[in-house]
Amino acid sequence: MNQRRLEIESNLVEVEKRITKALEGTGRERDEVTLIVVTKTYPVEDVFLLYDLGVRNFGENRDQEGAAKAPQLPNDASWHFQGQIQGRKISSINEWSDVIHSLDSLDHAAKFARLEELSSEKAREFFLQINLESAAEHRGGIAKEELESFLESCPVTISGLMVVAPLEVDPYSAFSTLSALASDVGVTKLSMGMSGDFEVALKAGATHIRVGSSILGSRTLLA
Ligand SMILES: *Cc1c(COP(=O)(O)O)cnc(C)c1O
Repeated sequence: MNQRRLEIESNLVEVEKRITKALEGTGRERDEVTLIVVTKTYPVEDVFLLYDLGVRNFGENRDQEGAAKAPQLPNDASWHFQGQIQGRKISSINEWSDVIHSLDSLDHAAKFARLEELSSEKAREFFLQINLESAAEHRGGIAKEELESFLESCPVTISGLMVVAPLEVDPYSAFSTLSALASDVGVTKLSMGMSGDFEVALKAGATHIRVGSSILGSRTLLA
């Protein structure tokens, strides 16, 4: 028996239980939520195990890592890029990713749009990252005040909003703010919630949750 497989499998079962429980009373079904397993820093062997266990959505933060892993998986795997985007990496990110969660620049959007024109592939899906942190910190994302003007000039279709809950505020209130912003501007998808707060995010309407350490273990212990 493969010990690692058993470990990942039981963690997945546990996370699925937590998802089901969090959705109770929300009127939403499990199939309305996409679980993205964040595989950053973990070896591709773990991704193979996840795939074998039925996972099809994988999240990565760095172009180099995603570009190395994605081509090794079958075509029905979806790759979600959720890290800070660097302009010079866009054509590479565009090669291997299916969904971008961390768009936060019109310049970058224009680059993706140009690549979309050049290729006949399926359209990529974009989430616009919103930053709800105080100004001193910055982990990527645009301020909520910039949302409407961004959407007015954005050359690619934005299908959802993404946030990382700021440390200084109650996550439920951050997620509810994102949900309200999305309905204000008429986008329906919400990428929010990680290992520590995905239940709260689901209560607030998350359609996409990005879960790493609850399934693969603590990244800090690997170093
Ligand atoms: C690493 C990361 C996650 C997953 O975090 P865990 O706490 O390991 O679940 C989700 N979203 C983003 C943007 C991340 O960088």
